[in-house]
Amino acid sequence: MLRPHVKRIIWILWLLIVPAGSWLVYYFFPPLVSSISFELLGFLLLTCFVAGTPMIINNTPIFYIQWVSLTVFLIFGLFVEVIFMQIAIVVLLLRIRAPREQLHRYPLNWLMFFMTSVGSGVVYYALGGTHGIDILSSPHNLLLAFAYACTYFLLNHFLLMFIAYIVQGKKRALFDKDFIWEALSTAITLPIGMILYILYQEVGAIAVIFVGIPFASLSIILNLYYSSDKVNQNLQKATEIGHELAERLHVEEVLDLFIQRLTEMFPVDYAYILDIVDDELKLLKSVEKNVKQSLKIPSQFKSQGISGHVWSTGKAVLYNSKREWKDIVHGYMPASAESIICVPIVRSNEVVGILLLASEQKRAYEKAQLMIVDILSSYFAVAIENAKHYERTKEDSERCALTKLYNYRYMERALEAEYLLLTKGKRDHLSVILLDIDHFKNVNDRYGHQSGNEILYQLAQRLSALIDMKTGIVARFGGEEFVIILPDVDKKAALNIAEFVRQTIANRPFILSQHIEDIKTEISVHLTASIGVASAPDDADDAMSIIRHADRALYVGAKRNGRNKVAEYVK
Ligand code: GH3
Ligand code: MG
Ligand code: MG
Repeated sequence: MLRPHVKRIIWILWLLIVPAGSWLVYYFFPPLVSSISFELLGFLLLTCFVAGTPMIINNTPIFYIQWVSLTVFLIFGLFVEVIFMQIAIVVLLLRIRAPREQLHRYPLNWLMFFMTSVGSGVVYYALGGTHGIDILSSPHNLLLAFAYACTYFLLNHFLLMFIAYIVQGKKRALFDKDFIWEALSTAITLPIGMILYILYQEVGAIAVIFVGIPFASLSIILNLYYSSDKVNQNLQKATEIGHELAERLHVEEVLDLFIQRLTEMFPVDYAYILDIVDDELKLLKSVEKNVKQSLKIPSQFKSQGISGHVWSTGKAVLYNSKREWKDIVHGYMPASAESIICVPIVRSNEVVGILLLASEQKRAYEKAQLMIVDILSSYFAVAIENAKHYERTKEDSERCALTKLYNYRYMERALEAEYLLLTKGKRDHLSVILLDIDHFKNVNDRYGHQSGNEILYQLAQRLSALIDMKTGIVARFGGEEFVIILPDVDKKAALNIAEFVRQTIANRPFILSQHIEDIKTEISVHLTASIGVASAPDDADDAMSIIRHADRALYVGAKRNGRNKVAEYVK
């Protein structure tokens, strides 16, 4: 957004330059018509028509008016051309409905076109150009017209770039794809200007109609061509994004990448992904102005609001401004949102989520973009499903189904990895606590296997609560044995933790609700555990021997010494 003082400067510059400049132009290059004639009005109409049918390229309206300005300049002189272009700006900005807070675009463009007009006119005169010339009579005259048009195009282009830099902070490459596009379109329209001029000299103002109609057709064709080129590019980009999404294994990564790519491809100020869970739309991800948000928004229901509507119809929608959706919206939507694209995320013919993109600009999205977003969301739907599947499979392969703790396989790998860090000097210690419930067989025998499971689950929860992710890794070693890996914890500290674990088990009974006793009430059972502790580098010189030594400490030091004890490994 432009700061107020910059806007003020633009207005002041315009006030200082354009009115006085126009008067100077009038004074030094008086118009070649003395009164408002039918011909003048004809050309004014043509100017307004061309200004009113711009091409929108990369959200920048571009109007190919050089050919009109060339003719107007050659016929009526610099002053009329300057005034016509100032009027053209008004028509263009009204046509694209520049919002009120962008009122400064008027003086900015007036200034730019004033400079372009005067600059090209001065170059033309400096090269010896005059008015009313017959451009086909000599190569010199043709070159003059050409020089005028080239100066006009280049001045216009670079001033536009300069403005884009000042106003939007956008840095463009000097000769980017848009430059080539504009140059090409100018080259195509330039001969039309020359024909208009020549025809005018032959048949008068009626030439405006003869040339105006073919131009209108050409501008429609160019518009179509440009948009199909854009669609092709976007389709190609969409395919690349599809591949990229497919490579991501984690749900969070897929979500982030999807929103990031959407934001790069389209003008997006707000992006929301909603998930359909239990017949409700829940916000899964929200990014506002490139910042991730964790919004607490109540769920939406089918047919409710924009997303709910897209969910029930399964059809994507596009809104150009707030006026179009303000009566439909329900629940949360940023106040400054204007344009909205909302598409269903579909998998196997079923809507599984909703994507909503919004921009603060009016008419920020085109129909063709809606299709691209639709394609992207189907890639996204597949990628997210794969990522979910991957995460689930990974979780299943790493966790024990009963206790939800890590399993032996995971623990083994984690221990190896930690041991490697130790040997590389990235850690000073690596301790292991091994724990075995005392007389666990009795629980099974007395209360049933199901009750044994209940205890294992409760114990797992106690251990997880005690050892947070930062301190260590809790895993089920097997049966009623558990292991705690403690990276960077020395033996003394590990023994303290082990003692704490022992007390946590012994001091509080476990509650059985699925026992096979005759009574219906819950039963509480007191249990104890025997614990062995070993550490590297003191006790072991490879990963698995830390476990072996902890196991030995457990049996020799704790079980044999009466159970409910913590024992450390001694060589
Ligand atoms: P101690 O360790 O004190 O010597 O006695 P204990 O009874 O705990 O020792 P033992 O190793 O003989 O018995 C372990 C029992 O744990 C045997 C088995 O029935 C039970 N167990 C192992 N895994 C599970 C399980 O997943 N669920 C249930 N309910 N019991 C299990
Ligand atoms: Mg055992
Ligand atoms: Mg046991």
